[in-house]
Amino acid sequence: MDAIARSLADTGLPHPLRVSAARAAVCAGDAALARQIAEKTAGQFLRPVINATGTLLHTNLGRAQLEGGACRGAVNLELDLATGRRGLRTSSVSKLLCSLTGAEAATVVNNGAAALLLVLATLAPGQPVIVSRGELVEIGGGFRIPEVLATSGARLVEVGTTNKTRLADYAEALGGLAPETRPLLLKVHQSNYRIVGFTQSVTTAELATLGVPVVVDLGSGLLDAGTPWLRSAPPRFLAGEPAARQTLVQGAALVTFSGDKLLGGPQAGLIAGSADLVSRCSRNPLFRALRPGGLVLSELQATLVAYAERRGHEIPFWQMATTPAGEIRERAEAIAGRLGPPVSVCGSLAAVGAGSSPGMEIESAALCLPGDHRIGLIDHEPPVVARVQEGRTLLDLRSVSPGDDGAVESALKHLLSRGPT
Ligand SMILES: *Cc1c(COP(=O)(O)O)cnc(C)c1O
Repeated sequence: MDAIARSLADTGLPHPLRVSAARAAVCAGDAALARQIAEKTAGQFLRPVINATGTLLHTNLGRAQLEGGACRGAVNLELDLATGRRGLRTSSVSKLLCSLTGAEAATVVNNGAAALLLVLATLAPGQPVIVSRGELVEIGGGFRIPEVLATSGARLVEVGTTNKTRLADYAEALGGLAPETRPLLLKVHQSNYRIVGFTQSVTTAELATLGVPVVVDLGSGLLDAGTPWLRSAPPRFLAGEPAARQTLVQGAALVTFSGDKLLGGPQAGLIAGSADLVSRCSRNPLFRALRPGGLVLSELQATLVAYAERRGHEIPFWQMATTPAGEIRERAEAIAGRLGPPVSVCGSLAAVGAGSSPGMEIESAALCLPGDHRIGLIDHEPPVVARVQEGRTLLDLRSVSPGDDGAVESALKHLLSRGPT
Protein backbone atom coordinates (compact mmCIF):
# COMPACT_ATOMS: atom_id res chain seq x y z
CA MET A 1 0.00 0.00 0.00
CA ASP A 2 2.77 2.37 1.00
CA ALA A 3 4.69 1.65 -2.20
CA ILE A 4 1.64 2.39 -4.34
CA ALA A 5 0.99 5.59 -2.36
CA ARG A 6 4.60 6.69 -2.87
CA SER A 7 4.38 6.02 -6.60
CA LEU A 8 1.57 8.60 -6.72
CA ALA A 9 3.69 11.46 -5.33
CA ASP A 10 3.54 13.32 -8.68
CA THR A 11 -0.22 13.80 -8.27
CA GLY A 12 0.62 16.43 -5.63
CA LEU A 13 -1.81 14.87 -3.12
CA PRO A 14 -0.78 14.72 0.54
CA HIS A 15 0.37 11.24 1.59
CA PRO A 16 -2.77 10.19 3.55
CA LEU A 17 -4.98 10.81 0.50
CA ARG A 18 -2.59 8.83 -1.70
CA VAL A 19 -2.86 5.97 0.81
CA SER A 20 -6.67 6.21 0.63
CA ALA A 21 -6.51 6.00 -3.18
CA ALA A 22 -4.20 2.97 -2.96
CA ARG A 23 -6.49 1.30 -0.44
CA ALA A 24 -9.62 1.94 -2.54
CA ALA A 25 -7.90 0.48 -5.61
CA VAL A 26 -6.69 -2.62 -3.76
CA CYS A 27 -10.16 -3.15 -2.26
CA ALA A 28 -11.61 -2.94 -5.76
CA GLY A 29 -9.18 -5.69 -6.71
CA ASP A 30 -7.15 -3.62 -9.17
CA ALA A 31 -4.08 -1.79 -7.86
CA ALA A 32 -3.70 -0.10 -11.22
CA LEU A 33 -6.83 1.92 -10.46
CA ALA A 34 -4.95 3.83 -7.74
CA ARG A 35 -3.58 6.42 -10.14
CA GLN A 36 -6.98 7.06 -11.66
CA ILE A 37 -8.56 7.50 -8.22
CA ALA A 38 -5.72 9.76 -7.02
CA GLU A 39 -5.89 11.90 -10.15
CA LYS A 40 -9.65 12.30 -9.76
CA THR A 41 -9.14 13.51 -6.18
CA ALA A 42 -6.28 15.82 -7.21
CA GLY A 43 -8.55 17.34 -9.88
CA GLN A 44 -10.92 18.45 -7.12
CA PHE A 45 -8.25 20.47 -5.31
CA LEU A 46 -8.45 24.22 -5.76
CA ARG A 47 -5.72 25.75 -7.89
CA PRO A 48 -5.35 28.60 -10.35
CA VAL A 49 -6.93 28.04 -13.76
CA ILE A 50 -7.20 30.22 -16.83
CA ASN A 51 -10.72 31.22 -17.79
CA ALA A 52 -10.78 31.27 -21.60
CA THR A 53 -14.54 30.68 -21.80
CA GLY A 54 -15.39 34.30 -22.56
CA THR A 55 -17.82 34.32 -19.61
CA LEU A 56 -16.26 36.96 -17.40
CA LEU A 57 -18.04 35.93 -14.19
CA HIS A 58 -18.03 32.14 -14.47
CA THR A 59 -19.66 30.56 -11.44
CA ASN A 60 -17.70 27.29 -11.84
CA LEU A 61 -14.50 29.32 -11.91
CA GLY A 62 -15.19 31.43 -8.83
CA ARG A 63 -16.95 34.36 -10.57
CA ALA A 64 -14.93 37.61 -10.36
CA GLN A 65 -11.17 37.07 -10.73
CA LEU A 66 -9.02 38.63 -8.03
CA GLU A 67 -5.52 40.00 -8.16
CA GLY A 68 -4.95 37.80 -5.13
CA GLY A 69 -3.13 37.62 -1.88
CA ALA A 70 -3.85 40.57 0.40
CA CYS A 71 -3.78 38.62 3.65
CA ARG A 72 -0.57 37.25 5.16
CA GLY A 73 0.18 36.78 8.83
CA ALA A 74 -1.91 38.64 11.39
CA VAL A 75 -4.36 41.39 10.46
CA ASN A 76 -6.15 43.98 12.64
CA LEU A 77 -9.51 42.35 11.92
CA GLU A 78 -11.12 43.54 15.17
CA LEU A 79 -8.45 45.84 16.55
CA ASP A 80 -8.89 49.55 16.04
CA LEU A 81 -5.32 50.79 15.59
CA ALA A 82 -6.35 54.39 16.33
CA THR A 83 -7.49 53.57 19.87
CA GLY A 84 -5.89 50.21 20.61
CA ARG A 85 -9.37 48.95 21.49
CA ARG A 86 -11.57 46.24 20.08
CA GLY A 87 -12.93 47.32 16.72
CA LEU A 88 -15.67 46.21 14.34
CA ARG A 89 -14.49 43.99 11.49
CA THR A 90 -16.79 45.54 8.91
CA SER A 91 -15.89 49.21 9.65
CA SER A 92 -13.60 49.97 6.71
CA VAL A 93 -15.78 48.23 4.16
CA SER A 94 -18.90 49.95 5.54
CA LYS A 95 -17.33 53.41 5.26
CA LEU A 96 -16.15 52.76 1.72
CA LEU A 97 -19.55 51.42 0.67
CA CYS A 98 -21.35 54.42 2.14
CA SER A 99 -19.08 56.78 0.28
CA LEU A 100 -19.48 54.86 -2.99
CA THR A 101 -23.27 54.42 -2.86
CA GLY A 102 -24.48 57.32 -0.74
CA ALA A 103 -25.92 54.87 1.81
CA GLU A 104 -26.20 55.95 5.47
CA ALA A 105 -24.80 52.62 6.64
CA ALA A 106 -23.66 49.28 5.29
CA THR A 107 -22.52 45.86 6.41
CA VAL A 108 -21.16 42.63 4.95
CA VAL A 109 -21.94 38.91 5.17
CA ASN A 110 -20.74 35.87 3.24
CA ASN A 111 -22.80 36.06 0.05
CA GLY A 112 -25.86 37.64 -1.54
CA ALA A 113 -28.15 34.87 -0.35
CA ALA A 114 -27.01 35.38 3.25
CA ALA A 115 -27.55 39.14 2.91
CA LEU A 116 -31.18 38.72 1.90
CA LEU A 117 -31.76 36.03 4.52
CA LEU A 118 -30.35 38.27 7.27
CA VAL A 119 -32.44 41.26 6.15
CA LEU A 120 -35.67 39.26 6.09
CA ALA A 121 -34.97 37.38 9.32
CA THR A 122 -34.21 40.70 11.06
CA LEU A 123 -36.91 42.97 9.68
CA ALA A 124 -39.81 40.64 9.02
CA PRO A 125 -39.97 37.55 11.25
CA GLY A 126 -43.62 36.51 11.25
CA GLN A 127 -44.45 39.56 9.15
CA PRO A 128 -45.83 39.85 5.62
CA VAL A 129 -43.30 40.45 2.84
CA ILE A 130 -44.99 41.52 -0.39
CA VAL A 131 -43.37 40.30 -3.61
CA SER A 132 -44.50 40.43 -7.23
CA ARG A 133 -45.25 37.02 -8.79
CA GLY A 134 -42.89 38.07 -11.61
CA GLU A 135 -40.01 38.12 -9.10
CA LEU A 136 -40.50 34.82 -7.26
CA VAL A 137 -37.44 33.47 -8.95
CA GLU A 138 -34.72 30.90 -8.72
CA ILE A 139 -31.32 32.55 -8.99
CA GLY A 140 -29.33 29.33 -9.28
CA GLY A 141 -27.62 26.99 -6.86
CA GLY A 142 -31.02 26.31 -5.27
CA PHE A 143 -31.58 29.94 -4.23
CA ARG A 144 -35.34 30.40 -4.56
CA ILE A 145 -36.99 33.53 -3.25
CA PRO A 146 -40.06 31.78 -1.73
CA GLU A 147 -37.79 29.31 0.09
CA VAL A 148 -35.44 32.01 1.40
CA LEU A 149 -38.48 33.88 2.66
CA ALA A 150 -39.84 30.78 4.38
CA THR A 151 -36.44 30.04 5.96
CA SER A 152 -36.22 33.59 7.30
CA GLY A 153 -39.54 33.22 9.11
CA ALA A 154 -41.19 35.94 7.03
CA ARG A 155 -44.59 35.40 5.46
CA LEU A 156 -44.74 35.64 1.68
CA VAL A 157 -47.59 37.68 0.21
CA GLU A 158 -47.66 37.30 -3.58
CA VAL A 159 -49.10 40.06 -5.73
CA GLY A 160 -49.73 40.57 -9.45
CA THR A 161 -49.04 37.94 -12.11
CA THR A 162 -45.96 36.49 -13.77
CA ASN A 163 -45.93 39.13 -16.50
CA LYS A 164 -47.77 42.10 -15.01
CA THR A 165 -47.72 43.66 -11.56
CA ARG A 166 -49.09 47.15 -10.87
CA LEU A 167 -48.63 49.56 -7.97
CA ALA A 168 -52.33 49.02 -7.14
CA ASP A 169 -51.60 45.32 -6.54
CA TYR A 170 -49.14 46.20 -3.78
CA ALA A 171 -51.43 48.89 -2.37
CA GLU A 172 -54.34 46.46 -2.24
CA ALA A 173 -52.23 43.82 -0.44
CA LEU A 174 -51.15 46.44 2.11
CA GLY A 175 -54.72 47.58 2.59
CA GLY A 176 -55.79 44.04 3.47
CA LEU A 177 -53.30 43.68 6.33
CA ALA A 178 -54.16 43.93 10.02
CA PRO A 179 -53.10 47.32 11.46
CA GLU A 180 -50.51 45.84 13.86
CA THR A 181 -48.47 44.12 11.11
CA ARG A 182 -45.10 45.53 10.05
CA PRO A 183 -44.95 44.66 6.34
CA LEU A 184 -42.01 44.93 3.99
CA LEU A 185 -41.97 45.34 0.23
CA LEU A 186 -39.36 43.21 -1.51
CA LYS A 187 -38.20 43.79 -5.06
CA VAL A 188 -35.94 41.17 -6.61
CA HIS A 189 -33.91 42.03 -9.68
CA GLN A 190 -34.46 39.73 -12.66
CA SER A 191 -30.79 38.80 -12.74
CA ASN A 192 -30.66 35.77 -14.95
CA TYR A 193 -33.80 35.97 -17.07
CA ARG A 194 -36.01 38.48 -18.84
CA ILE A 195 -39.76 38.65 -19.15
CA VAL A 196 -40.53 40.31 -22.46
CA GLY A 197 -43.69 41.15 -24.39
CA PHE A 198 -46.91 42.03 -22.59
CA THR A 199 -45.30 43.05 -19.31
CA GLN A 200 -45.49 45.62 -16.56
CA SER A 201 -43.60 46.02 -13.31
CA VAL A 202 -43.35 48.60 -10.58
CA THR A 203 -40.23 50.73 -10.04
CA THR A 204 -38.50 51.19 -6.71
CA ALA A 205 -39.50 54.88 -6.78
CA GLU A 206 -43.19 53.93 -7.11
CA LEU A 207 -42.96 51.32 -4.34
CA ALA A 208 -41.34 53.89 -2.07
CA THR A 209 -44.52 56.02 -2.24
CA LEU A 210 -46.47 53.36 -0.32
CA GLY A 211 -44.98 54.30 3.06
CA VAL A 212 -43.55 50.87 3.88
CA PRO A 213 -39.81 49.97 3.86
CA VAL A 214 -38.71 48.73 0.43
CA VAL A 215 -35.89 46.17 0.26
CA VAL A 216 -34.31 45.64 -3.16
CA ASP A 217 -32.27 42.51 -3.85
CA LEU A 218 -30.12 43.91 -6.65
CA GLY A 219 -28.10 40.77 -7.15
CA SER A 220 -25.16 41.86 -9.18
CA GLY A 221 -23.77 44.82 -7.25
CA LEU A 222 -23.29 47.63 -9.72
CA LEU A 223 -22.43 50.45 -7.29
CA ASP A 224 -23.31 53.48 -9.38
CA ALA A 225 -24.94 53.67 -12.82
CA GLY A 226 -22.58 56.52 -13.76
CA THR A 227 -19.51 54.19 -13.35
CA PRO A 228 -17.28 57.07 -12.14
CA TRP A 229 -14.45 54.54 -11.60
CA LEU A 230 -14.10 54.08 -15.36
CA ARG A 231 -12.32 56.49 -17.67
CA SER A 232 -14.91 55.82 -20.38
CA ALA A 233 -18.70 56.14 -20.36
CA PRO A 234 -20.77 53.30 -18.80
CA PRO A 235 -20.44 50.24 -21.07
CA ARG A 236 -23.47 49.15 -23.10
CA PHE A 237 -23.89 45.82 -21.33
CA LEU A 238 -24.96 47.68 -18.17
CA ALA A 239 -28.19 48.87 -19.79
CA GLY A 240 -31.08 47.77 -17.58
CA GLU A 241 -28.83 46.82 -14.66
CA PRO A 242 -30.00 48.62 -11.50
CA ALA A 243 -27.29 50.29 -9.41
CA ALA A 244 -27.06 50.59 -5.64
CA ARG A 245 -26.68 54.40 -5.47
CA GLN A 246 -29.63 55.13 -7.78
CA THR A 247 -31.86 52.50 -6.12
CA LEU A 248 -31.26 54.12 -2.72
CA VAL A 249 -31.96 57.59 -4.19
CA GLN A 250 -35.26 56.21 -5.52
CA GLY A 251 -36.24 55.41 -1.97
CA ALA A 252 -35.16 51.84 -1.18
CA ALA A 253 -34.66 51.43 2.56
CA LEU A 254 -32.05 48.71 1.95
CA VAL A 255 -30.32 47.14 -1.01
CA THR A 256 -28.54 43.76 -0.99
CA PHE A 257 -26.03 42.50 -3.55
CA SER A 258 -23.15 40.11 -4.15
CA GLY A 259 -19.46 40.97 -3.87
CA ASP A 260 -18.32 38.72 -6.71
CA LYS A 261 -20.59 39.67 -9.59
CA LEU A 262 -20.37 43.14 -11.20
CA LEU A 263 -18.66 44.46 -8.07
CA GLY A 264 -15.66 42.39 -9.12
CA GLY A 265 -14.56 41.45 -5.60
CA PRO A 266 -14.49 38.32 -3.43
CA GLN A 267 -17.59 36.26 -2.60
CA ALA A 268 -19.53 38.41 -0.14
CA GLY A 269 -23.02 39.76 0.45
CA LEU A 270 -23.48 43.48 0.98
CA ILE A 271 -26.30 45.29 2.72
CA ALA A 272 -26.55 49.07 2.40
CA GLY A 273 -29.14 51.71 3.23
CA SER A 274 -30.88 53.12 6.29
CA ALA A 275 -28.66 53.33 9.41
CA ASP A 276 -31.42 52.05 11.66
CA LEU A 277 -32.17 48.98 9.55
CA VAL A 278 -28.49 48.12 8.92
CA SER A 279 -27.79 48.39 12.63
CA ARG A 280 -30.69 46.05 13.41
CA CYS A 281 -29.24 43.53 10.92
CA SER A 282 -25.77 43.74 12.52
CA ARG A 283 -27.23 43.17 15.97
CA ASN A 284 -29.12 40.02 14.93
CA PRO A 285 -27.36 36.90 16.35
CA LEU A 286 -27.63 35.47 12.84
CA PHE A 287 -25.11 38.12 11.74
CA ARG A 288 -22.48 36.40 13.89
CA ALA A 289 -23.13 33.18 11.95
CA LEU A 290 -22.97 34.86 8.55
CA ARG A 291 -20.10 37.31 9.00
CA PRO A 292 -17.08 37.05 6.67
CA GLY A 293 -13.48 36.46 7.74
CA GLY A 294 -10.39 38.58 7.34
CA LEU A 295 -9.46 37.06 3.97
CA VAL A 296 -12.71 38.20 2.40
CA LEU A 297 -12.78 41.57 4.14
CA SER A 298 -9.26 42.51 3.11
CA GLU A 299 -9.94 41.57 -0.52
CA LEU A 300 -13.22 43.47 -0.46
CA GLN A 301 -11.53 46.51 1.10
CA ALA A 302 -8.90 46.46 -1.66
CA THR A 303 -11.60 46.27 -4.35
CA LEU A 304 -13.59 49.15 -2.81
CA VAL A 305 -10.48 51.31 -2.40
CA ALA A 306 -9.82 50.85 -6.14
CA TYR A 307 -13.38 52.10 -6.82
CA ALA A 308 -12.96 55.03 -4.43
CA GLU A 309 -9.71 56.06 -6.11
CA ARG A 310 -11.27 55.64 -9.56
CA ARG A 311 -8.82 52.91 -10.47
CA GLY A 312 -11.49 50.71 -12.07
CA HIS A 313 -8.95 49.39 -14.58
CA GLU A 314 -7.17 47.71 -11.64
CA ILE A 315 -10.26 45.63 -10.89
CA PRO A 316 -9.86 42.59 -13.16
CA PHE A 317 -13.58 42.38 -13.99
CA TRP A 318 -13.79 45.99 -15.19
CA GLN A 319 -10.47 45.72 -17.01
CA MET A 320 -11.70 42.64 -18.88
CA ALA A 321 -15.17 44.03 -19.53
CA THR A 322 -13.96 47.33 -21.01
CA THR A 323 -10.88 46.37 -23.04
CA PRO A 324 -11.57 47.36 -26.69
CA ALA A 325 -12.26 44.30 -28.88
CA GLY A 326 -9.41 45.38 -31.20
CA GLU A 327 -6.87 44.95 -28.39
CA ILE A 328 -8.14 41.47 -27.65
CA ARG A 329 -7.93 40.55 -31.32
CA GLU A 330 -4.31 41.78 -31.44
CA ARG A 331 -3.39 39.53 -28.51
CA ALA A 332 -5.09 36.57 -30.21
CA GLU A 333 -3.36 37.31 -33.53
CA ALA A 334 0.06 37.43 -31.89
CA ILE A 335 -0.48 33.97 -30.36
CA ALA A 336 -2.04 32.47 -33.51
CA GLY A 337 0.81 33.92 -35.59
CA ARG A 338 3.38 32.06 -33.53
CA LEU A 339 1.44 28.78 -33.44
CA GLY A 340 0.18 28.69 -37.04
CA PRO A 341 -2.56 26.37 -38.33
CA PRO A 342 -4.80 24.76 -37.22
CA VAL A 343 -5.00 27.62 -34.69
CA SER A 344 -6.65 30.75 -36.07
CA VAL A 345 -8.39 33.86 -34.74
CA CYS A 346 -12.15 34.24 -34.85
CA GLY A 347 -14.68 36.72 -33.58
CA SER A 348 -16.41 35.79 -30.34
CA LEU A 349 -19.17 37.15 -28.16
CA ALA A 350 -18.20 37.24 -24.51
CA ALA A 351 -20.80 37.33 -21.73
CA VAL A 352 -20.83 38.92 -18.29
CA GLY A 353 -22.08 35.72 -16.63
CA ALA A 354 -23.11 34.84 -13.06
CA GLY A 355 -26.66 35.79 -13.86
CA SER A 356 -25.73 39.41 -14.56
CA SER A 357 -26.86 41.31 -17.65
CA PRO A 358 -28.52 38.27 -19.28
CA GLY A 359 -28.54 38.39 -23.06
CA MET A 360 -25.97 41.19 -23.17
CA GLU A 361 -22.91 40.26 -25.19
CA ILE A 362 -19.53 41.93 -25.45
CA GLU A 363 -17.70 41.83 -28.75
CA SER A 364 -14.49 39.85 -28.37
CA ALA A 365 -11.93 37.65 -30.15
CA ALA A 366 -10.85 34.07 -29.61
CA LEU A 367 -8.20 31.59 -30.64
CA CYS A 368 -10.00 28.76 -32.33
CA LEU A 369 -9.30 25.32 -33.68
CA PRO A 370 -11.49 22.59 -35.12
CA GLY A 371 -12.91 19.92 -32.79
CA ASP A 372 -13.53 19.70 -29.06
CA HIS A 373 -10.25 20.04 -27.13
CA ARG A 374 -11.63 21.05 -23.74
CA ILE A 375 -10.23 17.99 -21.95
CA GLY A 376 -6.81 18.36 -23.56
CA LEU A 377 -6.64 22.02 -22.51
CA ILE A 378 -7.49 21.43 -18.85
CA ASP A 379 -4.86 18.67 -18.80
CA HIS A 380 -2.19 21.38 -18.61
CA GLU A 381 -0.53 23.34 -15.83
CA PRO A 382 -2.25 25.74 -15.33
CA PRO A 383 -5.46 24.24 -16.72
CA VAL A 384 -7.07 26.34 -19.47
CA VAL A 385 -10.88 26.27 -19.61
CA ALA A 386 -12.23 26.81 -23.13
CA ARG A 387 -15.67 26.56 -24.73
CA VAL A 388 -16.97 24.67 -27.73
CA GLN A 389 -19.17 26.32 -30.31
CA GLU A 390 -20.31 24.87 -33.63
CA GLY A 391 -17.73 22.08 -33.56
CA ARG A 392 -14.80 24.37 -32.77
CA THR A 393 -12.89 25.02 -29.57
CA LEU A 394 -12.78 28.72 -28.73
CA LEU A 395 -10.35 30.36 -26.29
CA ASP A 396 -11.82 33.81 -25.77
CA LEU A 397 -9.12 36.15 -24.49
CA ARG A 398 -11.53 38.71 -22.97
CA SER A 399 -11.79 36.61 -19.81
CA VAL A 400 -8.02 35.95 -19.74
CA SER A 401 -5.66 38.32 -17.98
CA PRO A 402 -3.04 39.52 -20.55
CA GLY A 403 -0.39 38.20 -18.14
CA ASP A 404 -1.72 34.69 -18.82
CA ASP A 405 -1.47 34.85 -22.63
CA GLY A 406 1.83 32.96 -22.47
CA ALA A 407 0.19 30.13 -20.53
CA VAL A 408 -2.67 29.95 -23.07
CA GLU A 409 -0.10 29.74 -25.84
CA SER A 410 1.85 26.99 -24.08
CA ALA A 411 -1.35 24.98 -23.43
CA LEU A 412 -2.18 25.15 -27.16
CA LYS A 413 1.39 24.27 -28.13
CA HIS A 414 1.30 21.31 -25.75
CA LEU A 415 -2.04 20.20 -27.18
CA LEU A 416 -0.80 20.39 -30.78
CA SER A 417 2.45 18.57 -29.97
CA ARG A 418 0.44 15.59 -28.75
CA GLY A 419 -1.07 15.29 -32.18
CA PRO A 420 -4.60 14.19 -33.04
CA THR A 421 -6.40 12.37 -30.22
C1 LIG B 1 -26.89 36.22 -7.47
C2 LIG B 1 -28.09 36.69 -6.80
C3 LIG B 1 -28.37 36.33 -5.47
C4 LIG B 1 -27.48 35.42 -4.70
O1 LIG B 1 -26.21 36.00 -4.46
P1 LIG B 1 -25.00 35.04 -4.06
O2 LIG B 1 -23.88 35.99 -3.80
O3 LIG B 1 -24.77 34.15 -5.23
O4 LIG B 1 -25.41 34.29 -2.85
C5 LIG B 1 -29.52 36.81 -4.90
N1 LIG B 1 -30.37 37.60 -5.58
C6 LIG B 1 -30.14 37.97 -6.85
C7 LIG B 1 -31.14 38.86 -7.53
C8 LIG B 1 -29.00 37.53 -7.51
O5 LIG B 1 -28.76 37.90 -8.77
